Amino acid sequence: MSNEKKIQQASEIFAINVFDLEKMERALPQEAYEKLINAIESNEKLDIPTANIAATAMRDWAISRNCTHYTHWFQPMTGYTAEKHDSFISHSKSGEVIESFSGKQLIQGEPDASSFPSGGIRSTFEARGYTIWDPTSPAFVIEYPHGNTLCIPSIFISYTGEILDKKAPLLRSVEALNKAALDILKLFKSPAKKVFSTLGSEQEFFLIQRKFYESRPDIIQTGRTLFGNPPGKHQQLEDQYFGNICEKAFEFMTNVETEAYKLGIPLKTRHNEVAPNQFELAPIFEEANVAVDHNQILMDLMDRIAKRMDLACLFHEKPFAGVNGSGKHNNWSMSTDKNENLLEPGNTPQSNLQFLVFLVCAIKAVYDHSKELRISIASAGNDHRLGANEAPPAIISVFLGELLTRVLNDLEKGKITETTEKAWLSIGIDKIPTIPRDNTDRNRTSPFAFTGNKFEFRAVGSNQTPSTAITVLNSAMAAALIEAKEAIDKKMKNGSDFNSAAVDTIREMYSASKKVCFEGDNYSKEWEKEAEKRGLPNFKKTPDALAAIIEKNTIELFEKTKVYNKRELESRYIINMHNYTKQIDIEARVFYSMAMTRFLPAAIEYLNTLLTNIQLSESVLGKEKSKEIKDLALTITDFCNKLKIESENIETARIKAENISDIKKSGEAYKNLLNETQKIRDIVDMLETLIPHSLWPVPKYREMLLQL
Ligand code: ADP
Ligand code: MG
Repeated sequence: MSNEKKIQQASEIFAINVFDLEKMERALPQEAYEKLINAIESNEKLDIPTANIAATAMRDWAISRNCTHYTHWFQPMTGYTAEKHDSFISHSKSGEVIESFSGKQLIQGEPDASSFPSGGIRSTFEARGYTIWDPTSPAFVIEYPHGNTLCIPSIFISYTGEILDKKAPLLRSVEALNKAALDILKLFKSPAKKVFSTLGSEQEFFLIQRKFYESRPDIIQTGRTLFGNPPGKHQQLEDQYFGNICEKAFEFMTNVETEAYKLGIPLKTRHNEVAPNQFELAPIFEEANVAVDHNQILMDLMDRIAKRMDLACLFHEKPFAGVNGSGKHNNWSMSTDKNENLLEPGNTPQSNLQFLVFLVCAIKAVYDHSKELRISIASAGNDHRLGANEAPPAIISVFLGELLTRVLNDLEKGKITETTEKAWLSIGIDKIPTIPRDNTDRNRTSPFAFTGNKFEFRAVGSNQTPSTAITVLNSAMAAALIEAKEAIDKKMKNGSDFNSAAVDTIREMYSASKKVCFEGDNYSKEWEKEAEKRGLPNFKKTPDALAAIIEKNTIELFEKTKVYNKRELESRYIINMHNYTKQIDIEARVFYSMAMTRFLPAAIEYLNTLLTNIQLSESVLGKEKSKEIKDLALTITDFCNKLKIESENIETARIKAENISDIKKSGEAYKNLLNETQKIRDIVDMLETLIPHSLWPVPKYREMLLQL
């Protein structure tokens, strides 16, 4: 068991495949480097001569890392990443073949982009799309067994300038937040010059043996099992969570960590999750734009490494019915360039005042824009998980913990929070107590929980990019900060001193939004009723949630923060609805084909065996002896008939849904279709309990979940 081989430490390989600022500084002449940093920091366009110098340095470094090709790496609305590789090959003036890479190629690419979802923004005659280098996220090298590729993180926009991806809105939201937060911080005489959101995404996933994956057309095509009963033993004994990691999973995680470290992804935590064969990997948090890129790279790595190890890594939110699904907990906060976490309670009343302003703005942000947050986590996959007693419901609420709830409630009433602890004594500014950092108070059922110095947005699905959720959070936060600043300014104009103006603003904003705060059990039925009484939205299914993309409140938020314009929002409504209906359409097709070509034939084969047996036993043993077997044959016959009828019904309903052109009606139709498919599943799952194991045409849950 001993391991004598020297293990490579993270620091020995960390970021060797990243062209980070350090490497750039070493590779570029000082003047060019400074110009580049300047362009990054002030969000300005880089001049072509400097871009040429940067591109040459990047090419030389990439070639030293065995790259033959480069690609603009971007995040279109498919929810996945996209890349189109170009070789460095080019002809020199004398006609020789050389490796070249120009500033123009670095800054801008022009993929033939007509096949990416654009939601009607790009008609075919203006099908061009541009990818544009995002220098705030470093270029990196993806290693393939047969040669490496330099990846340049990029945004993706249309010929007419509309955004077609998930990175550009995130960057815009970061900028909106930066501006709004700095305006508030100026009031506190903060030395900060920049504010950015921070993100640590905890990634949950399942691992199964590749051979099982390859025998399950449903997992291959839809990401989840459409059929199957949980095994006798699954997660009842709660012996899996934080249990010791089996060697195969351990090997997988170690391989992933090694590759992730090379790419500068600071993976920190690994553990077993609640369901069998379910695990989690989590990094140290980073600046949100980089953290999102890293999460996307990580998922891609995990997928590839699993394949290489004869495993399959499942990111679907609910790959197996009856056991827990997977989420992506997004830990979110804001930080200044002076390394100050703006959601960290401070040591002085003054810094606590600032903390409370940011805290109450976060509450107001969630209250005002809970619909947009719900949209940001809406997908066919996540619908299976939200509200399923293992994940937060579709109702967006905020958990603060006992202490902060008390502080804010007291503040609202104009009281100083009384406590027995010394740390609680109010000093200096009246009305503001000292708030010790407290992260012992946890509520694992809340979709948006304060955990001491950050919020944890727990409703995001494991398969979703964190990008949209963070874009909405940043934008909503920016809007609340703008509102707070205006309120404070107004009070000061009317003669208030700054502290009183800030305290009164906190009080007003808390009063206006405290309905969204909930400390109890979010999984309970009572909360659903209570939330309804409070008027909080509860969109259980994706099509219902998506309708709010084009509501006035949403459009106002994103136009005010300059994150999306109306046309871009309309296109997102279309794209997201299509993603939903197409996903269910695929599922319905797979339901039909697996039922008809796998389960029905298996059942009929067994039925034939039974009928032969009955005939034989009646002639040898007499009629009355075959009664039980006859009953069984009848049951199977009934199931076979029902299965055929229901499968055909589904196929008919699917074709009908497919032909609905009105997007809203089509969403409704597919939502209903999904409900109907449950009928097929119920029959097949019953058959699974009756038919001999040897005849069952696909691997069972027991095999997939209890072996690795
Ligand atoms: P737990 O959720 O179990 O308390 P941690 O507090 O270590 O675990 O954090 C979980 C995740 O939150 C990690 O990815 C961590 O890096 C991240 N995190 C910690 N502080 C911040 C922060 N200020 N902003 C964003 N993410 C953070
Ligand atoms: Mg956590």
